[in-house]
Amino acid sequence: MLGEGIAKGLAETARNFFGSYVSKERLTTVQFPEERLPQPEAARDFPFLVYDGPDWQAGLRCVGCQICEKECPPKCIYIEKSKDKKPDALGKPQFYPAVFNIDISVCMSCQICVEVCPFEAIKMDTEFELSTDDRFGGLLWDKSQLAKSNEHYNKIHPTEAAEVDARLAEEKAKAEAKAKAAVQAAAQAAAKAAEAKASPAPPSAPPSGSAPSDSAPSGSAAPSAPATSSSSSTVAKND
Ligand code: SF4
Ligand code: SF4
Repeated sequence: MLGEGIAKGLAETARNFFGSYVSKERLTTVQFPEERLPQPEAARDFPFLVYDGPDWQAGLRCVGCQICEKECPPKCIYIEKSKDKKPDALGKPQFYPAVFNIDISVCMSCQICVEVCPFEAIKMDTEFELSTDDRFGGLLWDKSQLAKSNEHYNKIHPTEAAEVDARLAEEKAKAEAKAKAAVQAAAQAAAKAAEAKASPAPPSAPPSGSAPSDSAPSGSAAPSAPATSSSSSTVAKND
């Protein structure tokens, strides 16, 4: 029917307008900034770098692999990978981003950087009050501004963060079990080597070339028997 959509829209508006006087559920606006609506869990604005533990520099999950930098459509990520390695939050030596900048004024919140990161190191924040009068420097964030704790990630995206934590814990347990097995195997191999070194060597067999002198040298022909052929007796008879 012509105008059905308009009529439905107006009806909804009227329901909300009059209903808001009797039901808070119909009140679709709040007195911002004094009042704030809770952010939905799927909300996203701009990326941040996740760190574990109390020290953001030591705990950054990012290893500076630069995949997100390559994949970012508007190219607003800039990374310089470190030349050296340092222990991450788990004590494993890792490269780290010596420089990690994001130009938030260019970022289009597409989340591709999050999707491509193999280390769960970059996630989308829900912070949106970022207005500044410094058009350039004010929105070019370095890693100290981008770093936010895993607790923050769990607070804004609890379901997703719980899944990531469970996966990382599983991977960590597997890696620890593998490392433990490798240490045990190395210890067993060392113990076997020490045992072999400590036990006396068995007497060795004489070499094949040092046989007693009365035995025939190997490969030499046996002495030939005296000639008793019929030809020699024939010669004797003839004499
Ligand atoms: S955030 Fe992820 S993808 Fe980007 S450099 Fe760090 S580890 Fe690599
Ligand atoms: S959200 Fe998109 S545009 Fe923003 S930094 Fe990540 S990949 Fe780039």
